[in-house]
Amino acid sequence: MAKCDVCGNDYDKPIKVDAGGRTGTFDCFECAIHALAPACTHCGCKVIGHGLERDGVVFCCASCAEQSGVVGLVDRA
Ligand SMILES: [Zn+2]
Ligand SMILES: [Zn+2]
Repeated sequence: MAKCDVCGNDYDKPIKVDAGGRTGTFDCFECAIHALAPACTHCGCKVIGHGLERDGVVFCCASCAEQSGVVGLVDRA
């Protein structure tokens, strides 16, 4: 049994995540995303796909990067 780091739910099949050194125990993927997924610098939505990154700044898509003045980033297909 392990408690979810986000909502505290005690679940018998917890998800343990190690995302580049940031670890956590969660009862569902929604909670894992809430705790670990980076947010788009422009629109604030959670980046749960590959996303885009430039100098440690994360965007959900090339359009958001462009609107924040970051040029040259292309959506990875
Ligand atoms: Zn949870
Ligand atoms: Zn965005």
